[in-house]
Amino acid sequence: MRSLVLVVAVLAACGASSAKPPVASTNAPAMHWGLVLHGGAGAIARDKLTPEREAAIRAALEQALRAGHDALAHGGSSLDAVTAAIVILEDSPYFNAGKGAVFTHDGVNELDAAIMNGKTRTAGAVAGVRTIKNPILLARAVMEKSRHVMLVGAGAEELAGIAGIEKVDPSYFRTEERWQELQNALKNDKFGTVGVVALDKSGGLAAGTSTGGLTNKRYGRVGDSPIIGAGTYADDHCAVSATGHGEFFIRYTVARDICARLEYAGRTLVQAADDVVMDELVHVGGEGGVIAMDQEGHVAMPFNTPGMYRGYIGDDGVPHVDIYR
Ligand code: ASP
Repeated sequence: MRSLVLVVAVLAACGASSAKPPVASTNAPAMHWGLVLHGGAGAIARDKLTPEREAAIRAALEQALRAGHDALAHGGSSLDAVTAAIVILEDSPYFNAGKGAVFTHDGVNELDAAIMNGKTRTAGAVAGVRTIKNPILLARAVMEKSRHVMLVGAGAEELAGIAGIEKVDPSYFRTEERWQELQNALKNDKFGTVGVVALDKSGGLAAGTSTGGLTNKRYGRVGDSPIIGAGTYADDHCAVSATGHGEFFIRYTVARDICARLEYAGRTLVQAADDVVMDELVHVGGEGGVIAMDQEGHVAMPFNTPGMYRGYIGDDGVPHVDIYR
């Protein structure tokens, strides 16, 4: 359906003379430690994205990269970096996660999130929560404070009370823009999920994803983001977070499939991510993209949509963000 994304090499150090912001492209140089994030993929229409809005989105992505970098620089784990960066994106109205979550068909916001620690293969996920300000924190609480991997709806919200995680009135998630999006069933910025993968100084990988799901979804619908192996996955050599049409990402177990190709098929990270996103998913009409890191700090950010908000930051602390191909 869509033509293949041209993979553009990135210059690690952009010339100081260049006025253009550093470009993240769909790959990035390997890093000793750092993180990669996405703020969703989709038909990000250049004409709908005003310069002010684009600047605000870039600033939020950079702020999230810096928050994750800070955590890692101070000896924090990849889990801490993933959590810190996702909280910033959840609090921003520009992404379909937390504050900016899209509406279901019935006009409510139902949020999903997951986090996974690659070293221990422990994971936590929540789905269909309506009152949790930062679902990624609740996903982490499921991992660290319960015997389970996934909790949904009221059961998940009850754990928030026990774990001391902030609850808000459902009206907190009502933004005028998302409301209009539901009314008009607009297709722009279709997949605005946020996700982060990180590699810490001790070589530990982690992945996390947070989303409001798909605009106009049926209430009770759960997408790929909180499904371990579909939209979120990490083990000791690979971490992936996805964004896109979740039903395809579940059926093709996208995140785990990318890591399995590394493990069993001898593919590099970039090859494995391209195989799945630019080939397999394209053939079946599965729109979206992923961010991925391996244990050597290689980075892949392929997407088969016109754009994907994305960025990375390595140990040098310089954030790189990009939107289009
Ligand atoms: N993958 C998410 C879902 O299907 C949507 C998105 O990426 O924005 O729930």
